Amino acid sequence: MPLYAGFDLGGTQVKYGLLDERNRIVFKDKAPTPAGMEELLELFGELWQRLKKRQSRKIKAVGLGIPGIFSLSEQKILQSPNIPALDGFDLHPALSRVMDVPFWIDNDANMAAYGEFRAGAGKGVLNMIHLTLGTGVGSGILIDGNLLHGSCGFAAEMGHIVVNPEGERCNCGSLGCLETEAAAGPIVRNYRKLAGIDENLTPEEIARRARQGDRNARKAYGLAGYYLGIGLGSAINLLNPEKILIGGGIMESGDLLLPRAIEEARARSYRASFSCCSIEKASLDNDAGLIGAACWAREQLSKEKR
Ligand SMILES: [Zn+2]
Repeated sequence: MPLYAGFDLGGTQVKYGLLDERNRIVFKDKAPTPAGMEELLELFGELWQRLKKRQSRKIKAVGLGIPGIFSLSEQKILQSPNIPALDGFDLHPALSRVMDVPFWIDNDANMAAYGEFRAGAGKGVLNMIHLTLGTGVGSGILIDGNLLHGSCGFAAEMGHIVVNPEGERCNCGSLGCLETEAAAGPIVRNYRKLAGIDENLTPEEIARRARQGDRNARKAYGLAGYYLGIGLGSAINLLNPEKILIGGGIMESGDLLLPRAIEEARARSYRASFSCCSIEKASLDNDAGLIGAACWAREQLSKEKR
C-alpha cells in the first residue's frame, strides 16, 4: 500500500509524517523551524530523505501546509506574519530541487481543515468550518466537499473578520478581528485588565484560576467566547455549515468559552441555520495539519491521473 507525506510548517516547529491509504499515520515526528529560508529548504530536504529511508513502501506524493497568504496561481507566499523569511519567496521552484515526487503547497489552516474533513471530527461533512484557536486564529472552510480557496487562494481567513469594531489593532491592519478578540493574547489581555495586574500569565494559568473560582479569569474567557460567538453567528448566516469544528491550544479550556460562544452564535444567527449546525471540538489536535496535507496531496495526485 503506497504512502503519502504531509508537512505542517509552523512558527516554531515543522511537523511531518506519513499516511497510508486509509489515512492512518504510520510515522510522525517534528523538528524546530529554522529562521532563514536557506536553512528551511535544507531542512525540508533532510526530512524528506529521512522519510524515504524509513520506508520500503513508495511515497507517492507530498503535501505542505505553509503559514500565511499563499498565492495559488503564482505558487508564492505573499505574506507570512509568523515566518517573515517566507514573505515573497518563490517556494515551488525551490522545493522542486528538493522533492523528487509530485508535491502540493497550500495554506496551513486549509490543510488542517482538510485533515478534519478526511480523517477527523468532520469526516464526510461536506459543509464545514474549522477554526484553530491559539496564538492566532486559523481557519479553513469546506463547501460541498471542496476547500474554499476564493479567486486567488486567500479565502477563509475567518480570524480576520471584524467582531468588535472598537477593538484592538490587528497584524492584518484592521481593528477588532476575531484574532485580536478571541485568541490566547486577548484572553491574557482581558484578564490583566480586569484584575488590574501587570503579571505575564499564560492562558493555561488563567484557566486554572478560573476553575478555582477567580471571577476575572472566568470573565476573561467569557469575553473571548462572546466575540467568538459573534464571529460564528455571522459564519452560520453566511455559509449554513453542518459543523463548526474548533481546535487549537485554547480549546483545552474550551468549557470556559464554548458555552458562551454557542449562546452568542444562537442569538446572532437565523434559527433555522443555527439549528442545522453543530459546534464541536475538533478531534485531530496537532496532527490535523500534517494529516490534511498528506490527504490533499493524495487527492490532487488522483485528480491529475483522472
Ligand atoms: Zn486581522
